[in-house]
Amino acid sequence: MEGIVTVVILLLVNLSVIVILNEMIQTNPGLQDGIFIIKRSVFIGPTHYQLWSWENIFIVLMVIFDVGVVYWRLIRRYHQMQLRHIIGELHYIANGHFDHRIPFTLKGDTQRVVTSVNSLVDSVIASIDEERRIEKSKDELITNVSHDLRTPLTSIIGYLGLIEDHQYHSEEEILKYTNTAFSKAKQMKSLVDDLFVYTKMRQTDTPLSIATLDVDQMMEQLAASFELEAGEKGMSISVETPDEPVHIEADAEKLGRVFNNLISNALKYGEGGKHIALRVNPVSDDEVVISVENDGQKIPRAALGQVFERFYRVEESRSKATGGTGLGLAIAQSIVSLHGGYIYVTSDDELTRFVIHLPVKNGVKIKNQQVKPTH
Ligand code: ADP
Repeated sequence: MEGIVTVVILLLVNLSVIVILNEMIQTNPGLQDGIFIIKRSVFIGPTHYQLWSWENIFIVLMVIFDVGVVYWRLIRRYHQMQLRHIIGELHYIANGHFDHRIPFTLKGDTQRVVTSVNSLVDSVIASIDEERRIEKSKDELITNVSHDLRTPLTSIIGYLGLIEDHQYHSEEEILKYTNTAFSKAKQMKSLVDDLFVYTKMRQTDTPLSIATLDVDQMMEQLAASFELEAGEKGMSISVETPDEPVHIEADAEKLGRVFNNLISNALKYGEGGKHIALRVNPVSDDEVVISVENDGQKIPRAALGQVFERFYRVEESRSKATGGTGLGLAIAQSIVSLHGGYIYVTSDDELTRFVIHLPVKNGVKIKNQQVKPTH
């Protein structure tokens, strides 16, 4: 339609130009002479065929002009149609069809628009999914926390209720009740404390107080501080470091928390084990690997991928009176990743190893080579 209308308009324009030019030539003898001279001077062949009559010139120019205008109008209309199509697709997506993408391939800039729109939709969907995941994980966090707080709180209320209702026979019994309530209250406090640290460490902008740290010295101090407890459980702790001192830039207090947790886990869960080893291994100029190993009961294969999840406790640990919150390893993982490193675990009948890769320089992030936990 657009093409036909354009052609009709152009024909009318051509006709009016012809009429105007004709009129001008008829009424202007000077112009006629000029045209005559040009006509005589432009010819081809031995027969002096005169190429140029003014009608010829005019017709050639007009045809070129007309074809140009028709082409330009049609191309413009075609682009408009493509744009309308794209807008239609956009409305379709905006109406909730988020798994739809603009399917057609076009040429040039329009294709770039289509590609950009499709990738924009992809990233919007990805961030909506991420938002939903975070929302869901917050709900789970609240459910877990309320469950874990309710259990000791019920005991506390129960025991204090017995005292309040004078349901005791001796002072000894009161002491027993208050003792239980006290230990349950401490359990609640440790959960709240862990939770506080966990949420703090999850924030990627948590400030670290970075200083140069002597890793060997730190491990020796940690081993010394656990020696007594290990001795009571019939276990020993050894430290293996290279001859050269190993230094890294890190937050000593936060890293200390990580290793404290790993060593106390080794003592708590390494049932039947005899030995805990802390190993320091500078694998390159940029990276140090520190591992905490213990023998004794292994972590079941199915649990290996989950021990770093918050509130996750291997089934057997739940039933035992180890008193954990299931947040220790989640905190350890967050602290290690705040330092730009990564942590993983391997466990078999002989050994359970928690391995930490840390960058030597602060601000450097190490590429995680450990894709899946191994058994
Ligand atoms: P918590 O110690 O509070 O339960 P963690 O996050 O520190 O929580 O540990 C999660 C679970 O991983 C523990 O409940 C335990 O079952 C398991 N685990 C951790 N360290 C070891 C270990 N060295 N040997 C065996 N199991 C372990």
